[in-house]
Amino acid sequence: MNEIISRIKAKTPGEKEFHQVVGKVMETILPVVENNPAYRDASILERLAAPDRILIFRVSWMDDQGKVQTNNGFRIEMNNALGPYKGGLRFHPSVTLGILKFLSFEQTFKNALTTLPLGGGSGGSDFDPMGKSDMEVMRFCQSFMTELFRHIGANTDVPEGDIGVGAREIGYLFGMYRKLKNEFTGVMTGKGIGWGGSLMRPEATGYGCVYFAAEMMANRWNQTLTGKNCLVSGAGNVARHTIEKLIDMGATVLTASDSSGYIYDEEGIDPGKLAYLKRLKTVRRGRISEYADKYPAAVYTPTDATLDHHPLWSHRADCAFPCATENEINEKDAYNLVNNGIRVICECANMPCTPEAVDLFTDRKNILYAPAKAASAGGVAVSGLEMAQNNMRLTWTREEVDKQMKVIIKQLHQTCLDAAEQYSCPGNYMVGANIAGFSKVVDAMLDQGLV
Ligand code: NDP
Repeated sequence: MNEIISRIKAKTPGEKEFHQVVGKVMETILPVVENNPAYRDASILERLAAPDRILIFRVSWMDDQGKVQTNNGFRIEMNNALGPYKGGLRFHPSVTLGILKFLSFEQTFKNALTTLPLGGGSGGSDFDPMGKSDMEVMRFCQSFMTELFRHIGANTDVPEGDIGVGAREIGYLFGMYRKLKNEFTGVMTGKGIGWGGSLMRPEATGYGCVYFAAEMMANRWNQTLTGKNCLVSGAGNVARHTIEKLIDMGATVLTASDSSGYIYDEEGIDPGKLAYLKRLKTVRRGRISEYADKYPAAVYTPTDATLDHHPLWSHRADCAFPCATENEINEKDAYNLVNNGIRVICECANMPCTPEAVDLFTDRKNILYAPAKAASAGGVAVSGLEMAQNNMRLTWTREEVDKQMKVIIKQLHQTCLDAAEQYSCPGNYMVGANIAGFSKVVDAMLDQGLV
C-alpha cells in the first residue's frame, strides 16, 4: 500500500490535498484489498486514483472597466463506473488541480454511498466571485460554459454548485449551455425551482448532515439534538441550512463564520437572525461582522492568520458542524473541542478535519465522528433525485423529496455501520464509509472489464 501511495504521489507532485485524501482512504481500505486478490491483480487502486479525464481551459472575460481578465477553468471526470460523472463546480481563488482531484476522489465514494447511479467528478475555477458585480459574474460564467459545454451532458457529466457557485451562478451557466446546445436537459443540478430544479436541493446538504448526526446519536446513545449546543462554521449554503435544521430540531447554534471572521452569539441564532444572515449573504453579499453590528449579544472575532488554531472551535459545546472548507479543524482545534466537551463532529464541508484531527476524534470511543462522504451526501442525493425528476419531466413535492432523502441517509448510515462492523471497527463511521463506498465502485469497475 505504501508503495502504491508513493507512486501516486510521484505522479502527482504538489497536489497535497489529493495526497491527503488518498492516504486516508487507502489506510482504511487496506483490509479489504488484502482480502480480495482480484483487486490487487487488477491494479484497482492505481486506476481509482487516476481520473478518467482532466480538462483544463482558459476562461477570458471582460470586467466592468472593459479590461479582459483570464482565469483557469477545470473539470475532472474522475470515475463513471456507477453513472454519469457528478460533482460540484467551485469558484474560489484557492482552486488548484490538487483541490479538485481531492474533491472528485471523495465525490466518487460519496456518490456511491447514496445508492443512486452517479459517478464522481468536480471542477471549477480560480475566479473569485467575491466583490464582482452580477454582470461580471454572468460574463465569467458564460465564458466558462463556452468550453465546458462540449464535455458535459445529462448522461455524461452533470455539474452542480460548491463554494462560490450558488443559484445565481448555476442560472448563468445553465442559460449559456441551453443557448449553445439548443436543448433543455438536466445537464446541471441545483437549477431554479421554476426551471427544472428540485424542491429541497438548496437545503439538502445542510439538512442531510443534521439528519445524519441525529441518526448517529439515536443509534449510539438513544439521544436527540434537542437542547444540544452546536458550533457551526461558514455562512454559505451548507452552513445556513445546517443551522436551520438544527434550530428546527431544538438545538442551540452559537456560531457562524466567513473567511474574515466569526460570530459567537450566546443567545443562539434564532429563525429571525438566520433570515437576516441569509439576506446578508445572498442578497447583499456582506460580511459576517455585520451580524454582530445588528445583534449586540453576538461577539465578532476577526480571523487571525498568525494563530495556530481557530478560536471558533474553542467554545464549549456538544456538537460541531464544520461547514466552510477543507482542513478548517486542525489537531489543536480538535484538542480544544475535545477538552471543551464535544461529543459529536459531523463533517458538512468536504474534508474539513486534518488527518491528525480525525485520528484524535476516532481514537475516542465517547465521540461520534461522521466523515463528509457520509454526512454531507444529502446534497448529491437530492441532485440525483433532481436528475430523476428531469428525466421523467415531473416535479415531486417538497415532502416527497425530503422523505426520499431521509430514507437515503438512514440507509447510508446503516451501510457505514455494517461495513465497519464487518471489518472489526464497530462504530467507526470513517472506516465504514470508506470501505462501503470503495467496494461499490471497484466491484463495478471489475464487472465492466479493463476499460
Ligand atoms: P458557499 O460558497 O455557499 O459558502 C462557503 C462558506 O465557507 C462561506 O461562508 C465562505 O466564506 C467560507 N469559506 C470558504 N473558503 C474559506 C476559507 N478558505 N477559509 C474560511 N472560510 C471559507 O459554499 P457551500 O456552503 O456550498 O460549501 C461549503 C462546504 O460544503 C465546501 O467544503 C463544499 O465542498 C461542501 N459541500 C457543499 C455542497 C453543496 O451542496 N453546496 C455539497 C457537499 C459538500 P467567504 O464568503 O468569506 O469566502
